[in-house]
Amino acid sequence: MTSTRLLIVGPQGSGKGTQGIRIADTFGVPVVSTGDIFRANIKEGTDLGLQVKAITDAGDLVPDEVTFAIVKDRLEQPDAAEGFLLDGFPRNVAQVALLDEFLTGRGEALDAVIELNVPREESLKRIALRAQEQGRSDDTEAAIAHRLDIYERETAPILAVYRSSGIVDTIDGVGTLDEITERIVAALEARGLARTAAA
Ligand code: AMP
Repeated sequence: MTSTRLLIVGPQGSGKGTQGIRIADTFGVPVVSTGDIFRANIKEGTDLGLQVKAITDAGDLVPDEVTFAIVKDRLEQPDAAEGFLLDGFPRNVAQVALLDEFLTGRGEALDAVIELNVPREESLKRIALRAQEQGRSDDTEAAIAHRLDIYERETAPILAVYRSSGIVDTIDGVGTLDEITERIVAALEARGLARTAAA
């Protein structure tokens, strides 16, 4: 049985959410997006939602233990047994260690890390557009700048960790949606990962 365990990394506005869905579809695995899980909980007014609303609105990171608990719970669902695409987790080096320990304990490892490269001006343009279209409560100017700073300071360093394992594919994130999807699929296929027949 082949498995496909993926992580997509990129700054806010890099298109990683959109590309993540397309790639997960193509390779027949579920998307596990911590941002989506937090937003759903906030919308439903759960305890978790109440706990994280102020943090996410400010563009700060939710504590590692809280975030890891929801990821662990999600990865233990049967549909993630043969693979998944992580979007938004891990987001700092401590979370890399938590994920690594969890996967190693199951005899698993990530197969590839997709790094979406987009210039900061392009990210800002795309987030401004999303703010108009979706009205996300954390897409205020201050929170956006703060999230991009956190990305550069805390998230970008996780790539060095994965680079040392030789699993990072750096993809140019500027182009049409289809062009970018094709670049990612080609990189993953070059690693021997197989798309599902239906895709
Ligand atoms: P995203 O949709 O990935 O941009 O996530 C939206 C918000 O959820 C972030 O700005 C954080 O406040 C929170 N969040 C998502 N993933 C994580 C994570 N791995 N660690 C901590 N906070 C997170």
